This record gives sequence, structure tokens and C-alpha cells, in this order.
Amino acid sequence: MYQIKRVKIGKTKQLEELAHACGEVYTATLVSFWRTVRKKGIWLKPKHLMRWHSSNTLHAHTADACVQSFFASLKSWRERRKTDPTAKPPRRRKWYFRIEYKRSAMRMKDGKLLLSNGKGNEPLVLDWPWTMPQTLVIRWTGTEYEAIATYEPCFLPVPENGDKIAGIDLGEIHMAVSHDGEQTYILNGRLLRSKRQYRNKLLARLQKKIDAKKKGSRRRKRLVRSKQKQLKKLANQIKTIEHQSTSRLISTLQKDGVQTLAIGDVRAIRQDLDVGSKNNQKLHQWSFGSLRHKLTYKAERVGMVVEIQEESYTSKTCPVCGKRRKSPVQGRNFCCTNKACGWKGHRDLVGACNIRYKYRGEMGIPHVVGADMAAPIGLRFMPHIGVARKEEMYLREAAGLRDHAEKSLNTL
Ligand SMILES: [Zn+2]
Repeated sequence: MYQIKRVKIGKTKQLEELAHACGEVYTATLVSFWRTVRKKGIWLKPKHLMRWHSSNTLHAHTADACVQSFFASLKSWRERRKTDPTAKPPRRRKWYFRIEYKRSAMRMKDGKLLLSNGKGNEPLVLDWPWTMPQTLVIRWTGTEYEAIATYEPCFLPVPENGDKIAGIDLGEIHMAVSHDGEQTYILNGRLLRSKRQYRNKLLARLQKKIDAKKKGSRRRKRLVRSKQKQLKKLANQIKTIEHQSTSRLISTLQKDGVQTLAIGDVRAIRQDLDVGSKNNQKLHQWSFGSLRHKLTYKAERVGMVVEIQEESYTSKTCPVCGKRRKSPVQGRNFCCTNKACGWKGHRDLVGACNIRYKYRGEMGIPHVVGADMAAPIGLRFMPHIGVARKEEMYLREAAGLRDHAEKSLNTL
């Protein structure tokens, strides 16, 4: 896993020319590869075509990258056609193509990144207040160019206190709840849910309007465009919330020294389950797949191990005495049905706690839970503050919540 930095760099004549030069190398590769297949029946290798095609306006390794891109898509087609008979090989010629710079073509100077385009050509200069990346790819986003820098992943030294495991329960109301044996963190998902609800309403309202217009009319076209624009905005907001929340959870867990994540497997929930049209819609729009993916790659990026844990009965079992409830939990609080135990607590905490136990093979046996079970800390998403201030506010918020939780525990 690599770390990635994206920077928008606008549109200049130099970038256009470079992208076109890359397109030329790519197209030349494509044409001569298929021509050789057709006429001689030989599948050439990347090294042959790299020697064959180069460009006077590109760094040698940048031209090589275009050739390699062609072979990468060729390879993925050969992989895909094993299962998908409709898969098509790369055949399209490209006028523009992405520009890739390898480490050998980079130099840093006074906060600028100098990207060489070969001897005798102007280098490409970018403002770069960060360190030098491993590779840099420049691609067209539809409105401007974007530089995508890749860095080696940074692995933190593993703390000595053994393997710390956090169980993660994905939910609809709380995006994710984690429990690492000491602390519980909750990612609240209500904001995300409100965005999704608004999306459904908006879609219904606009679609009704669109359907009332004549097909092919100007009014209709305008409405369709407006719908797409608004939906795109919402989709971006949802993406941001998911990204920022998951990043926060992972960085918090990393600070606490967690090395293994056991994520509850909720893939089976949606199959053959009918809970009425309203709740069905909720369940089907619950994006746990993308959440799990984001949590997984973000955790792996900082050197954690991620495991998927089967999660049956984790929400029904008492984390203290280990007795399994017969009926599902009603409401937001868990009540143990074992009279001798009678433990009460937050419902989502129970899930995360039991997923962790299950991963360690300890579910269903009594646990001593005292100071262990600290009150959960909510990690909230705050969209309107800058990143640096955000971190500070989050810390203060967490400290305040912890105080508050301790006070309320004492009064119980
Ligand atoms: Zn109990």
C-alpha cells in the first residue's frame, strides 16, 4: 500500500504538449504491437517496444512508462477474459495520455519540484512544499490537470506491549464502533444518513418534474443537467464524510497502539432480509462495502493487519457474563437477561467488543469488565474548520467527553 497526494495544477500549454507526446508514444506502441501480432503472429514484450519507441520531448523513463501502461492494460485484459468473454483488449488510439515521472527524472530545489523532460527540453516545474515522491503521475480530470504523487508507506515501529486488537462493528446509525479492550470509539453516521435521505428526496422530486416534461424538450434537458449536478455534489459530500471519518478513526487507533483490526463481516445482512420498504432502502444504501474498504486500506497503510471476522450473535451476547439473549436487542441499550449479571450498556459497544472477543476466541465466556469498559468516545465530523484546528478541537472534545462520561458513571 502506498500513500498518495493529489494536487490540482491547472492547464498550461506545456502540460498539453507533454500529454500529447505521451499519447503519441502510447499510440505508436499500440499500433506496432497489434501490427506485429497480425503480420508475424508474434506478441512482443515491453522491452522490445521500449527500445522501438521513444520521444524527443520526453524523459526516456516517461516514454517507457507509456509503453508499460499499454502492457498493463493488455495484461489486465488477458486476466479478465478468463472469466468475462465480453472483455476487450486495448485498441483505442489516444491523442493525450497520462504523464508519468519516475524518481530518476525528479529534482527538488527551493520548494519546487523539477521534472526532467530529457536533455535539451524545458523541465516541468511544480510548486512542491512537500518531500520528493516516489513517482508522479499527471492526468487530466476533465477540467484541469492533476498531479498524483506516490510515497512509500510509512510503517511505525511496533510497540512492545504485544499485539493490541481492536474489534470494529459497522452499523447504519453509527458508521463504525471500535473497541480495543480499553477504549471505545464511535463514528457517528447520522450526518451521512441525512445526506442519503436528502438524496432520495431530491431524486424523487426532480424525477417527478422531469417525467412531466416532454421528451427531447429544452426544459427537460435543463432539468436532467440540474439533477446530475446536484447528485454529484451530494456524492462528493458523502465521499468526503466517509474519508475524513475513517481516516480519523484509524489515526486515533494508531495513536492508541492498535496493530490488528477485526472488522465484523456484515456482507450477509442484505441477502434475504425483508424489513419493510423504508428500512430496506436504508439497509441497501448503507455503504459498508466502501467503508470497510476505506478502513482496510487506511489501516494497512500505517502497518496494521486487517482481518474480517464472522459476526453472528455478536450483538446478542453479553460482553460481561457471556450469556446469549434469545430476543434481539430493542432500542439503543443492551440489557443482559441473566439476572445474576444484569449488565446494561451501549448497544453498539457490545457488537465491537464481542467481535474482538470472537477474533480472540473468547466470546461467550465471562469477562471481568471494570475499568475495561470505559464510556465510548464519539468522533465527530466537523466540516467547516481547517484541518489543523480540527485536530486540536477534536482532542479537546474527546477530553471533555471523557470527563463528562466519568462524571456520569460516578453518579450512577
Ligand atoms: Zn450478562
